[in-house]
Amino acid sequence: MKIAKDSVVAIEYRLHLGDGNVVDESEPGEPLEYLHGYEQIVPGLERELEGKEAGAALKVVVQPKDGYGDIDPDGVEEVPRTEFPEGMELKAGSILSATDDEGDEVDFLVKEVRGDMVVVDFNHPFAGKTLHFEVTVRGVRQATEEELEHGHAHGEGGHDH
Ligand code: ZN
Repeated sequence: MKIAKDSVVAIEYRLHLGDGNVVDESEPGEPLEYLHGYEQIVPGLERELEGKEAGAALKVVVQPKDGYGDIDPDGVEEVPRTEFPEGMELKAGSILSATDDEGDEVDFLVKEVRGDMVVVDFNHPFAGKTLHFEVTVRGVRQATEEELEHGHAHGEGGHDH
């Protein structure tokens, strides 16, 4: 069957940012499963997968606007050190997480520590990047009613949450 809205799709993928260094990939023998049509993967990749069948292998180049978006200068903030939990190790290059006003966990990068001020960046690490995917479609099936209700794919063996 062809990939369409409400398909559960299993893909093996590798991602690099133009220089060939792999920055993300599926675990060997453990394809990523997602529910197609709900932007659970970046839109530019989802669009290219539409209509493909199991066995298809494709290379997809995704521009930032169809990937993780452009870098938002407002995503970079200076925060007083006193606002971080005591004992949290703050050094340039660390990736830490915080809970936002809606209770969602968000990751951020410590860009710089300047005396009592910490410069943090909430942009996605791949924001502003052109994404180069190599993808193989390993499986396509219709989502179950339960999966559609939940809005996500359930792994082999069914429900685990
Ligand atoms: Zn579920």
